[in-house]
Amino acid sequence: MSEIILKNVCKTYENKNTVIENLNLTIQDGSFTVLVGPSGCGKSTTLRMIAGLEDISSGELLIDGQRMNEVDPVHRDIAMVFQNYALYPTMSVRGNIEFGLINAKVPKAERDRLIEEIAQMVGLSEHLNKKPSQLSGGQRQRVALARAMVKKPKVFLMDEPLSNLDAKLRNKMRSDLIELHHKLKATFVYVTHDQVEALSMATDIVLMNKGVIMQHDKPSIIYNQPKNIFTAQFIGTPEMNIIPQEDFKGQIEVTEGVAFIGFRPSKVKMYDPNTTKSHITFKGQVLTKEMLGSEIIYRLATPMGVVSMKAFSDIDLALDDELDVMVERKNLHYFDENKEAMEG
Ligand code: ADP
Repeated sequence: MSEIILKNVCKTYENKNTVIENLNLTIQDGSFTVLVGPSGCGKSTTLRMIAGLEDISSGELLIDGQRMNEVDPVHRDIAMVFQNYALYPTMSVRGNIEFGLINAKVPKAERDRLIEEIAQMVGLSEHLNKKPSQLSGGQRQRVALARAMVKKPKVFLMDEPLSNLDAKLRNKMRSDLIELHHKLKATFVYVTHDQVEALSMATDIVLMNKGVIMQHDKPSIIYNQPKNIFTAQFIGTPEMNIIPQEDFKGQIEVTEGVAFIGFRPSKVKMYDPNTTKSHITFKGQVLTKEMLGSEIIYRLATPMGVVSMKAFSDIDLALDDELDVMVERKNLHYFDENKEAMEG
């Protein structure tokens, strides 16, 4: 059991900068919870308060039902993995992993057994005698992970651990982390500004903005049922098209109070005159074209402003081409004037 609860948590730094205001969050035992949001929204501060590296100004932090506010970081049964690895450069990989175990007075034979086991798990068995400088970025990150894992904590906290890796390695490490989480069955709390990373790894996403939780849900719910325009546009690339209701010029009838209508670029299709599905339709002219491989992103000039369309690459249009497009009504999202989601 390692459920983490933040109750009415506030954080004000010494410079009177209030970064977190009344945060209420329950991180479920065994979840892979990703805190995501724009830079400066308070993700790291939240993580550091859980770790005990930052004081909580007011409110309460509970781990497994126990108040942790005053508990020293080393007694929280937590391991933290940072972006910059924080390895000891003069020690070997083995030495780096062993360090915490020696401090914890684990006997030699048990240390050796644990190091072998963990090194195997993260694919470092061949490299135990090397120095960090002899390793690639991905291998160093594995050492940092191994060092955290060897203490068998109940909770892993990770602050942008993959951001120093190149794109290919990052993808590999993402699937490794998913696998690791599955094997360890521990609670992972992971901070990133990258929504793709959040969607791909999380069992639970906490989307933050300006110190406030905008939505806390499973990835598929966050993506398919965003609770507000901020979430709708932060998650998914390119971002959801959001059009003021009046710009539809009476083309569709909506419930009173609908101020904005949204639809994902992938839901914009070439108009099919034989369609029997309820839909909206409009004209577009190609402004830009961005080839992604299997898909192409077009930006279209339309009577409602610029609209993004994500099409499979067999739909091959040229700049300035004119076309009719449609969006099925079931793919529309509706928002009120406060930018909160509502029924259409
Ligand atoms: P994120 O991780 O989402 O990028 P942070 O939690 O690092 O955001 O920072 C949130 C806000 O708190 C930022 O405005 C940042 O400038 C401020 N902040 C972070 N650390 C300190 C500090 N030690 N003193 C004062 N302000 C800080």
